[in-house]
Amino acid sequence: MSGEQELGITESKEHSTGEWYAEVVQKAELADYAPMGGFIVTRPRGYAVWERIQDHLDGWFKDTGVDNAYFPMFIPESYLEREKDIVEGFDPEVAWVTHGGHDELEERLAVRPTSESIITPFIADWVRSHRDLPMRLNQWCSVVRWEATETKPFFRTKEFLWQEGHTAHADEDGAWDETMTRLDQYERLYEDVMAMPALKGRKPEHDKFPGAHTTTTIETLMPDGKSVQAATSHYLGTSFAEAFDITYADEDEEDQTAHTTSWGLSWRSMGALIMLHSDDQGLVLPPTLAPTQVVIVPIWQEDNKEEVVEYAADAAAELEEAGVRVNLDDRDNRNPGFKYNEWELKGVPLRIEVGPNEVEDDELTLVHRPDGENSVESRDDIAATVEDHLDTVYAKLYASAEETLEGEIREADSREEILGTIGQHGGYVKTGWCGDEDCEDPIKDALAAEIVMVPLDRDEEPLHDDCAICGDEAEETAYWAKTY
Ligand SMILES: [Zn+2]
Repeated sequence: MSGEQELGITESKEHSTGEWYAEVVQKAELADYAPMGGFIVTRPRGYAVWERIQDHLDGWFKDTGVDNAYFPMFIPESYLEREKDIVEGFDPEVAWVTHGGHDELEERLAVRPTSESIITPFIADWVRSHRDLPMRLNQWCSVVRWEATETKPFFRTKEFLWQEGHTAHADEDGAWDETMTRLDQYERLYEDVMAMPALKGRKPEHDKFPGAHTTTTIETLMPDGKSVQAATSHYLGTSFAEAFDITYADEDEEDQTAHTTSWGLSWRSMGALIMLHSDDQGLVLPPTLAPTQVVIVPIWQEDNKEEVVEYAADAAAELEEAGVRVNLDDRDNRNPGFKYNEWELKGVPLRIEVGPNEVEDDELTLVHRPDGENSVESRDDIAATVEDHLDTVYAKLYASAEETLEGEIREADSREEILGTIGQHGGYVKTGWCGDEDCEDPIKDALAAEIVMVPLDRDEEPLHDDCAICGDEAEETAYWAKTY
């Protein structure tokens, strides 16, 4: 890339969302495409966002009894086969290592598509008595799923970064509490850190994680009306414990089978974050996750350069001291307009402009990234003022995302109405549903929309008495949407 013209975003979020998204990711320097199809290179600005997401979640996990561990990225084929449900669920997507150097391996090794089959046997080994429970392990790693689809950075890549938690508990209550604790933490991440309102629900039976008793999900809505499965937390019942023999001696020295859970959040969360908040000027990030929260741009003439830059540097030092992630852009070879555009493109939430007027009046001009709103503030107590403005920027992003979601949950009671409503508006459509997977097919075939979730509470009365597709008695309420 060279010259100013190519610097900015040329595609439109509204009219060519896919191309626009790819352009934002590349031009904001979050990621590049790797030479192998389906893989990306995460650049420092992108990785810094992921690190902040990690920091938040990791802290909450540790506060609630989770320990981090690390297991090998290769899993012997015989381990994968021990849990047939997993093999059936992932087999076509598994990448295999067949050779080490020139020698063919005696047993193929799978590149982990997820790690249940290697972590669970060790949990089985480490759990002896009820005193060893609950056992909670998490690992931050990458997994590989060889899906033959078009690369979409952070949304669809063969290798992706995530965390996977794996826990064992004495009984169903403990394991179910664990499943909900993690789902609530994911919701908190979206609501309080990513400025994204989220829906909580359960996957329909036919779309559960293979072998799971219940798969719970966080869904978020994108501006183009498609839903993103933003994190999942699974109550696995005793199926994995039985397959891998996680038993423990209870207080009466009787052998019992443990109940297990697993839960994960991937960098798809970053994809959703970028897609939701960003605009035709480029990346928009909430201050909570932005690698640079504030950029200070001094605006000088030759005769006042020294005092303007010094004033700006002084403010930058004070903000840095207060823990604000601030960058002073005093480059000589770029004019202020160029700098504004560049930092808008890169998603810095707050810009501070400093010219001779600000210096004279002992003030600073603050400009919000999402909407360009600006205000002149006193130089005194600037750290507290900036914190207030960063909170305001966060609130603006959340409010705008909430507006996207609001009014995008509609009802329907016939197949035609589902098709018409999703076709015209996107978003979620709620219907009565009999629970039969076959009733999903006509909508899937016509619109590529599916049932993204049902209510968490299995006892909740369905929205309508009848299934919107077949007319049989409804068992639950289905939320239909197109998906990423
Ligand atoms: Zn039906």
